[in-house]
Formats: sequence, C-alpha cells, structure tokens
Amino acid sequence: MKVLVVGSGGREHALCWAIQNSPLCDTLYCAPGNAGIADVAECVAIGAEDVDALVRFAQDKAIDFVVVGPEGPLVLGLVDKLIALGIKAFGPSAAAAELEGSKGFMKDILAKYGVPTAAYGRFKDVEAAKDFVRKNGAPIVVKADGLAAGKGVTVARTQEEAFAAIDEALVEGRFGAAGAEVVVEEFLDGEEVSFFALCDGESALPLASAQDHKAVGDGDTGPNTGGMGAYSPAPALTPDLQARVMREIVEPTVKGMAAEGRPFKGVLFAGLMIGKDAAGKPVPKTLEFNVRFGDPECQTLMMRLKSDALAALIAAADGQLKNIDLRWHDETALCVVMAANGYPGDYVKNTEIKGFEAANAVEGVTVFHAGTKLSEGRVLSIGGRVLGVTAKAPTVAEAQKRAYQGVDALDWPDGFCRRDIGWRAVGR
Ligand code: ATP
Repeated sequence: MKVLVVGSGGREHALCWAIQNSPLCDTLYCAPGNAGIADVAECVAIGAEDVDALVRFAQDKAIDFVVVGPEGPLVLGLVDKLIALGIKAFGPSAAAAELEGSKGFMKDILAKYGVPTAAYGRFKDVEAAKDFVRKNGAPIVVKADGLAAGKGVTVARTQEEAFAAIDEALVEGRFGAAGAEVVVEEFLDGEEVSFFALCDGESALPLASAQDHKAVGDGDTGPNTGGMGAYSPAPALTPDLQARVMREIVEPTVKGMAAEGRPFKGVLFAGLMIGKDAAGKPVPKTLEFNVRFGDPECQTLMMRLKSDALAALIAAADGQLKNIDLRWHDETALCVVMAANGYPGDYVKNTEIKGFEAANAVEGVTVFHAGTKLSEGRVLSIGGRVLGVTAKAPTVAEAQKRAYQGVDALDWPDGFCRRDIGWRAVGR
C-alpha cells in the first residue's frame, strides 16, 4: 500500500523507519520530512499544518493510509477530512484531539469518568482564579487551556507566582486565544513517567512507558525544551503499575470518550505523576494527555518494537486492535537529542553535520533526524532540536554508553547535547 506520514521531526523519522520495514508498505511518502527521512521515504514539500494541501496530495497519489505525527494537524481536523474522502488515517478526529487541545476539556472528562488526576478549577475570570489560589495555597499549578508549545504551564511555588501566571494568561494575553481560559490545579509530588497506548475508539492496547528530560541542562537545570532525551521502558512504571494505569486511566478515558460521541483512535500519551499514598504505596495520577507520540519518546518505542508497526497503526484506525498482539525487544532504548547551539533560545542555523556513517556504525545505534535538510549532498541543521541519537542495549547503562558513542562519532561543532540522559534509570 501507499503510506503518507505527516511531520518532520525525529518522531516522524522513527515512524517512517519502522513503517518502511513493514511488508504492507510499498511506497512511503513524508510531508514535509527531513534529510534523514529522505533515506527511507519520498519527501514532499507540504507543511504539516497545510491541511488542504495534504488532503489534495493524498487524493492525487491515491494514498491508502495516512499517519499523522504532530498534534497541530490533528486539532485542525486533518483526520476528519481524510476520512470524509474515504482515505484511512491514523490519529484522532478533531473532536477527540480536544483531549490535548483543551486542558479544561481533558480535566472535565477525567472528572466525569472518575480518572485519577489533580483537583482543579477552570477560569476565564481573573479574580475567580486568584480566589481559587487563595483558597488552596501554593505550591499550585496554572495552565493555559490551549496549545502553547509546552510554555503555558507554571508550577508556582508561591501565591504571587501563581497570580503572575494568571495575569500573564488572562490579562496580558501572552498565549493569545490559548490562554483566554486557565486551569488552576493541585500540585502533585512524585516521579513523572510517560505511558503510551494505541486506541481504536473502543479498546486500548498498551505500548510502553518512557521517561523524558525536558530541561536543557545536565542535572535537569535551565529552561525547558521540547525534550532533550528519553528512554524506554521507564523502570518507575512497574508491570503492576502499568496494569493499573491501563485499568484506572487509559481504559476509562477511552470508554468515556466513546460515551461522549468522540471515540478516540490513535495513540494516547498519558503524562503521569507517580505519587505515594498515606501508606507509602505508589499511586499513578494523570498530569496530561497528548494525542500523538512523544518526541523523542517515539524514537525509543519504535526501536524496541519487534512487531509490524504499520499493521498495528492500521488496526487502531480500523477498530481492530483486538487482533493485534505486539512483541517487544527486551532491551532498553535511549535517545540523546542533539540541538543547535543557542537552543532553546535563538539558535544557529545552516551549519553542516558530518559523521553519520560512523555514528550509525556504533553497535545498536540509529541516528534519527529532526531539524535537518539536504543541500547539495550535505546535511545542514535548520531547527532547534536537530538529531536524536538512539541506542538499544540489554541495560539502560549500556544503551546510554552506546548513544554517547554515537554522539561522539558525529562531527558537528555547532551542536550540543546533555551528557546525562537516563541518569535516573542508570542510578536505580
Ligand atoms: P508538554 O510540554 O509536556 O506537552 P504541557 O504544556 O502539555 O507540557 P503539562 O504536561 O500539563 O503541560 O505540564 C508540563 C509540566 O508541568 C509537567 O511535565 C510537569 O512537570 C509539570 N506539572 C503539570 N501539572 C502538574 C501538577 N499538577 N503538579 C506538579 N507538576 C505539574
């Protein structure tokens, strides 16, 4: 069949890399893709949010299956438009993508269907939001309702910080329409893990857990980024806890969304906080839902997946997940993100990267591309997060060692990475 993957990040490179291995895939396109994706798919110069052009391309090329990587086109209704034209697609409808598109909507669904999460309030009115803060005290968390590229969340240590975050969103309009409403919620303490499940509208199939590193600097210091690295599985999510997350969080959400007339198909990415109850036993609670794979978590998941990724994505789109039995490599996969100097602030662009052959030759290592382009046979950096050097190995310590061997084999003086990805799992 002919498959189109939408997106241009490391996540989409990993998806293309896995999909091209499927015996079901004859032709693979990626819009817009990047220099690494060009090795495994035909890249098409259409932006990931240019919904109309993507739909036209899918029609013109008689694409059989579209896999949508990022949340933007999902929230814009790309999957709805494709399905209306009889083109099969992986990813939720716009109505189901609200789980990520509106934090207030997400919290209301969790509350209605009894899914464990932080206590919260939704506010458009400044004084009402501040009253909620006064009543509950700090620490407390203030979130812009809509998509704000990870920048709309303030974990306020003091009441004043919370007031400032409320003013920023509701008075100063820092997040535009995405911040016209805020969610103010209870601060949860614990260890964060991510968990991914495929959903077909009615049922859910567990994929795997992962842990990421958001801060730019070693020791989790400095400003937050889109993600500087990740590994899978996350030892904090034991098999027992994973079963509990499926039972208490993923399955009731999928059932609830179906009951709301917004059946969720695609990948549900649950951001979890593993706290402790009074007896010291771990308790998973939902911090957030995303409606797509994480980037860089996807790179680690695809490296661990033994089964046919494309067959599983098609089954999710077809409502046939019950027929899928996924196999995984027992090994750990770990991804180190290399970013352009300056990121997450203003960063350098159009700098040449060399050494891919040497890096990919390190045992267990695959270099996934994100912000790269090809120019006269040379690979140039064009984004903030540029590469995801991903390694698979029997232990997380060995995966870490291999990934950094891959990093060191690359020749890119204008890029940097954290040197401690996986520290928590390695130290366990
Ligand atoms: P992302 O960049 O992960 O998509 P986002 O903007 O969707 O982020 P959240 O994931 O809801 O927002 O929050 C971002 C981060 O803020 C979380 O990863 C977590 O570290 C912290 N956080 C969010 N909610 C809470 C909470 N209730 N208690 C403690 N920390 C929280």
